[in-house]
Amino acid sequence: MIARILVSACLMGHAVRYDGVAKPLLHPAIERWRGEGRLVVLCPEMSAGMPVPRPPAEIEPGRTAGAVLSGDARVLEKTGGDVTAAFREAAENALALARRTNCRFALLIDGSPSCGSSFVHDGGFRGARVSGAGVTAALLRANRIEVFSDRQIGELAARIEEFGS
Ligand code: SF4
Repeated sequence: MIARILVSACLMGHAVRYDGVAKPLLHPAIERWRGEGRLVVLCPEMSAGMPVPRPPAEIEPGRTAGAVLSGDARVLEKTGGDVTAAFREAAENALALARRTNCRFALLIDGSPSCGSSFVHDGGFRGARVSGAGVTAALLRANRIEVFSDRQIGELAARIEEFGS
């Protein structure tokens, strides 16, 4: 079976981000993969019932996505709401879909508390970045799905070529 790629819906032009906009990624590889039936598009947060728009949310300061997944840290909205359970459900939905559809790879937008793969925000809601992953990206990686950010599309293309299916 072809190795598929789980893709952040906002990268595919769906206006599903917390602020109600999309972040479309235009690249010839995307069109090629679409034609091959390789793309599986998901917004993890919407799959867990989160609305658009929604308050911005960040992993609490000094904690990691791994700690969120193990129940030792929270994801909080700027408005104070605790959305930890929804973020964990979002990650579990993404993993379940990836398994059902043979996604060996994921192409996720960086910086998001769900989809971030090299950085997230520091929990202070002031735009500051810290190294780390979002909750969905962390769960996918823990289950041996290779996660690439929107800035690594070339690396993903090379990896798929190497993978050979
Ligand atoms: Fe995009 Fe992922 Fe946030 Fe959904 S959860 S809006 S796909 S970054």
